[in-house]
Amino acid sequence: SMDKDRANNVAKIKVVVRKRPLNKKEIAKKEEDIITIEPNSNSLTVHERKLKVDLTEYLEKHEFLFDAVLNEDVSNDEVYSETVQPLVPLIFQRTKATCFAYGQTGSGKTYTMQPLPLKATQDILRLMYCTYHNQGFKLLVSFFEIYGGKVFDLLNDRKKLCMREDGKQQVCIVGLQEYRVSDVETIKELIEKGNATRSTGTTGANEESSRSHAILQLAIKRSADGSETKPARLVGKLSFIDLAGSERGADTTDNDKQTRMEGAEINKSLLALKECIRALDNDQGHIPFRGSKLTEVLRDSFVGDSRTVMISCISPSSGSCEHTLNTLRYADRVK
Ligand code: ADP
Ligand code: MG
Repeated sequence: SMDKDRANNVAKIKVVVRKRPLNKKEIAKKEEDIITIEPNSNSLTVHERKLKVDLTEYLEKHEFLFDAVLNEDVSNDEVYSETVQPLVPLIFQRTKATCFAYGQTGSGKTYTMQPLPLKATQDILRLMYCTYHNQGFKLLVSFFEIYGGKVFDLLNDRKKLCMREDGKQQVCIVGLQEYRVSDVETIKELIEKGNATRSTGTTGANEESSRSHAILQLAIKRSADGSETKPARLVGKLSFIDLAGSERGADTTDNDKQTRMEGAEINKSLLALKECIRALDNDQGHIPFRGSKLTEVLRDSFVGDSRTVMISCISPSSGSCEHTLNTLRYADRVK
């Protein structure tokens, strides 16, 4: 019951905002930092520059409260202990936990997300070997992306995969490669391989990857009697989702048809995601998974004992004010 108490102490939904530092380009353009964060608080204020009809400028303040607000001096290690680390012990107890990075392109989603699965693997392996030794637990990793509503395996040359729903309404991605991980070096190599396989197209890496959702899943499996030989069944799962750039959802009036379609798909998936997380929080019976490919894929992570952490990434720059306010309003509505 000590385990159970610990599980109950971890909030079902946690919304965290991370502000990155101003970058060289923004400084060169003389853009200003418009985000203030009170030390040791969970409050954040956006100072929006506005113009009156008589052309005098004024600042409009928008204050937001979240479960945690992480300033630009917060390290990736601290992000990990604030967000994912408390979830790690729970996945040995049938919990499905999901961590999302949300925000406009360039706000720090990938920078924030990339180290998390590696750190989580270190902790999972420590628990497996030191606490749960010889109980037959296995750690498996898969890594795929959703691009234009289609699923591609990042650990198998971007092979296009199909989803299937079985009689028990379990969704599975047919043929998705799963690798067993018994040491940190293996996961490191797999993450690097997957990242190198993300859609890069012709226009440059960030441009293309900003239109896809990248999903890395760590699954804990165990056979009924804890032996190595019997088929292993899923115990719990930890998913890391580097979402498409939130501004891409607005690409619905672009001249290019392909871009327009991708924009519409991204818009649909981010709206569906918000609705699903809200439904989780309200403990509603009905969770609207079918709204998009992304939420369909995540269906089994939303049912049963689930936990969700949303990390909303923001740029501090005055030039990103509108996107930042959109990101914060989205995060606000998730809770
Ligand atoms: P996104 O994935 O949201 O498009 P990235 O994670 O690629 O954005 O970040 C854009 C750039 O900003 C990268 O060069 C990254 O290294 C840098 N960056 C992002 N967040 C931080 C941070 N908290 N501290 C320092 N540099 C950061
Ligand atoms: Mg990115």
